[in-house]
Amino acid sequence: MREMSLMYGFTAPLAPVLFKAACPDCRSRFELSASALRLAIGASRRTTFYSFTCPECGSSVRKPAGERIVELLTGGGVRTLRLHTTA
Ligand SMILES: [Zn+2]
Repeated sequence: MREMSLMYGFTAPLAPVLFKAACPDCRSRFELSASALRLAIGASRRTTFYSFTCPECGSSVRKPAGERIVELLTGGGVRTLRLHTTA
């Protein structure tokens, strides 16, 4: 067990992260790297979403992001945009 945790601790930050995604338009499934995804964090859950362009049909996909997804994406190095309408 000790060897395993050491291994994870060493490789995790360096490993390329791929996120599984699916396109609602053409129904294809694919894996996207962090640079292909964008995350927008709004003031409420309704305005928190992630988006990407489908590599198959080129359509822009936008999906709501829950807390877990936000953690996953930010932890994986996805570009994050914080939307704040009030100054
Ligand atoms: Zn598509």
